[in-house]
Amino acid sequence: MWRSRANLQSRPCLTLYYNALLPSATICFALSTVEKVAIKESTLERVHRARSVFVLTGAGVSAESGVPTFRGGGGATVWKGMPFEVISSAAMIERDLVAVWEWFDYRRELLRNLKPNPAHTTLARWGRKYERFTLATQNIDGLHAAAGSENVLELHGTIWKARCLRCDARKSLRREERADDSRRERPPLCEVCGEAMRPDVVLFGEMLSDKVLERAAEAAEGCDICFVIGTSGVVYPAAGLAEIAKGAGAFVIEINPERTALSDVCDETIQGRAGEILPQLRV
Ligand SMILES: [Zn+2]
Repeated sequence: MWRSRANLQSRPCLTLYYNALLPSATICFALSTVEKVAIKESTLERVHRARSVFVLTGAGVSAESGVPTFRGGGGATVWKGMPFEVISSAAMIERDLVAVWEWFDYRRELLRNLKPNPAHTTLARWGRKYERFTLATQNIDGLHAAAGSENVLELHGTIWKARCLRCDARKSLRREERADDSRRERPPLCEVCGEAMRPDVVLFGEMLSDKVLERAAEAAEGCDICFVIGTSGVVYPAAGLAEIAKGAGAFVIEINPERTALSDVCDETIQGRAGEILPQLRV
């Protein structure tokens, strides 16, 4: 009944997923008035003893650094008259590539002064401490790498790179951050073949990279503990990774301010902010 690796990539990215309610022994912790979340001793012990850890992070982790999510709260984000889902869609690449670039240039600009938060830095430390550790993220902002995490599996790509439409060559956009707008070429042209480039992110209606997803699924399948942090659990196929871990016998811990569609898949849900809870875990 658990999702297997074989059918993980069965739907286009970012389709909404409503999880069937599954039996579980989920335990919730409420935030106390001092915002200190009680974490069970057995959980602390389990986290301390783990040898192979898989972590999946989502927008909530970035939001704690001030990265806008452009979704939720009941209000739809509109940019130059286009809803967020339209300007961020695969169809726009063909319809108006320059507008897509302007949208992602704007979003990169918002990130310029944002810093990793304690969730990012704690996970970077875990990467150096655990024998086997894999960090997969749905976030495109590069904050995990900025905190010192290595080999991050960026399931939805990165806002800091451009990718050639013809030959898939990549180019970093970090350097051009220092150039002024008038020197930016939009769309940028591939240095290998001369074709136009696009932002190296997974847009609505697109599939995730098979290679990246496969590596994440492999890590999820082989872990003792799987953490699902700051993700609503409604976005597939990333959310399926938690199910793969669970199906392979891992203990699945969710950290999120609210319960989510994934809560019933998890063995334990710790309700609260990742930046406050992760530093409390003994690793
Ligand atoms: Zn090219």
